[in-house]
Order: sequence, then structure tokens, then C-alpha cells
Amino acid sequence: MWPSDSNDHRVTRRNVIIFSSLLLGSLAILLTLLLIRTKDQYYELRDFALGTSVRIVVSSQKINPRTIAEAILEDMKRITYKFSFTDERSVVKKINDHPNEWVEVDEETYSLIKAACAFAELTDGAFDPTVGRLLELWGFTGNYENLRVPSREEIEEALKHIGYKNVLFDDKNMRVMVKNGVKIDLGGIAKGYALDRTRQIALSFDENATGFVEAGGDIRIIGPKFGKYPWVIGVKDPREDNVIDYIYLKSGAVATSGDYERYFVVDGVRYHHILDPSTGYPARGVWSVTIVAEDATTADALSTAGFVMAGKDWRKVVLDFPNMGAHPLIVLEGGTIEKSETFKLFERE
Ligand code: ADP
Ligand code: MG
Repeated sequence: MWPSDSNDHRVTRRNVIIFSSLLLGSLAILLTLLLIRTKDQYYELRDFALGTSVRIVVSSQKINPRTIAEAILEDMKRITYKFSFTDERSVVKKINDHPNEWVEVDEETYSLIKAACAFAELTDGAFDPTVGRLLELWGFTGNYENLRVPSREEIEEALKHIGYKNVLFDDKNMRVMVKNGVKIDLGGIAKGYALDRTRQIALSFDENATGFVEAGGDIRIIGPKFGKYPWVIGVKDPREDNVIDYIYLKSGAVATSGDYERYFVVDGVRYHHILDPSTGYPARGVWSVTIVAEDATTADALSTAGFVMAGKDWRKVVLDFPNMGAHPLIVLEGGTIEKSETFKLFERE
């Protein structure tokens, strides 16, 4: 409230005005400084990898951030073909092409396939890296050129060749074998793994590097903004060009699985690429699941699992996922939003 017009108060008002201009002046200087710092500090690189658009925003006081960004991009491209379902250079293809045979793999591959199977175990098979045959049947592989709705008989047949327990591990010799006609697909976890690598790479150049990397909406924080402020991440509305919530994060990762980016429509029915391994059909009842976690591998795998599970029992996802270090925001079919209690931790500073 402004002071009244009495003499005593006039002095006060002038003081207030002087104080305000000083404040405005310093705010303007501060803002200019911040803008200069943003421009100076963060190098941004945009490209295409992991089947989607990627954005690398990185800063370092020690070395040219462009060097870091380029190394990150190169590694993302390496992971894209190494863990692809179809690429000739892919180690996943090599394993799938040699069923019932032990295939020797490198440590990175061994650990990632093992991690994928551990997430399958953890989610009772809602996340299952052996959905390869089903994905092929629906056409959700390669360039998505053969999209179609398979017959029920075809789905029944493919379902016989799904199940993470058919992936065998030989720890001693680092070998993997697929049995019973299953095919591994790492599409639900490789992006998260690649995002976690980006942070390791940045820190290997400069342990105080900051910034974040985004791949198709999934984000891995390298370090807080200017070394101390949270990054503000918008959660996309799965049906409109809108943001439905904001996440404030200084570290960790965010991943979203939705039915709105890779899908086709036949007779008014939307068929998308997240398949329910128990039915063989695209998971229903939910539009998107966003997960905040400490690492992007967990966020990625559990956003896919959460998507499969939430349509059947979203309450279970909201209650159980925080125990696995995954904090969910679910947009149910129709648009209702449900979140875990713990999700609030990331909503404001
Ligand atoms: P996006 O890749 O669009 O971010 P997701 O992280 O949810 O979406 O991954 C979807 C991909 O995961 C599919 O394209 C497919 O390769 C694979 N996938 C589909 N259904 C499953 C499932 N139930 N379990 C594990 N992986 C799946
Ligand atoms: Mg995922």
C-alpha cells in the first residue's frame, strides 16, 4: 500500500521511489549479466540420433564445450547402431540372428542386456526386452514401413516367442544366448542408457561440466544450471500442443512414454509402439507416463513399463514405482493426471 499525502510520509514515498529505481537498475544489470553468462557458458548442438532429434546443452570452464558436445553426439550415434534391431553393425541383431547359440559380447552389451532383463523381472514382465517378434509383426521396427494390424492368430503365435527368461547369460565368458525363438529389442532402454553415457562423457572431460542432454523429450541432467539452479522441464500434453506440468531438476533424468509419437490409425483405432507383452497388443488406458529418476536408464525402462501397467492399475504404479526410485506422472486416457506423492518434490524449488 502507498503512504498517504501527509508531509511525514512524502519523504517515505520519495525514498521508496529512489529505492525502486535502484532495485530496477540492479535487476536490469543482473539480467543482462545472466543473459551474457547463458550465451557464454552454454554451447548447444542439435542433431539426429537414437531415432529422434537430440539436443546437447553443455558448459565447461575447463575446455571448449563444443569438444564435449561433439564427443557426446558421436557416442549417441555409436549406440544407435550398436543396439539397433535392424542395423547390420548391431550386436543385438547378431545375437538374434544366432538363436540357440552362445554369442560372445563386450561388457557394455552384456551389462545392458542384463539390466534390461532385471527391469523385466522387477516389473513382472511389463517391460520385456524380448518383444522383438511382436514388434516385427506390427511393423514397429526399422523405418516403420510395414505397419499393419496383425490377425489374432499371428499374435497368438508371436506370443509363444516372447519372454525374457529365454535370454541366457554366461557370466564367466560374457556370452548371451536367445532360446525359444525370442528376439531381443532394446528400444525401450537404449535411449536412457545413451543419455546416462552423455553425462559420463561430459564429466570425463571436466568433472564440473554442467548442462543437459535431450533425446526425443527424454532428458539427462549433466549438472545444475550455472552450477546451482534447477533446470525447468515441461511435461508435454499428450494430445495438444501444450505443457501440462513443470519439473524442476538439478540432477537426474526424465523420460516419457506416450502413445502420441509413434502410431498409426486404422478404422479410427490408434495403434502405437508400446506393446503389452501379456496381450500382444498396444497397451491401453493411458496416454503418457513420465518418470523422474536418478538415472535415465531407469527412467526410460520404467516409463515403458509404467505405460503398460498404468492402464490396468495406475494406483499400483503411483504407489510402487517410488520404491524403485521412479517418480511417475501419468496421463490416463481422457486426460486425468495422476502422480505419486513423491513427484511433488520436483515441481517447485
Ligand atoms: P520412446 O522410444 O518413444 O521414448 P519408449 O521408451 O516407451 O518410447 O520405448 C518404446 C520402444 O520400446 C518401442 O519402440 C519398442 O522398441 C520397445 N518396446 C515396446 N513395448 C515394450 C515393452 N513392453 N517392453 C520393453 N520394450 C518395449
Ligand atoms: Mg522407455
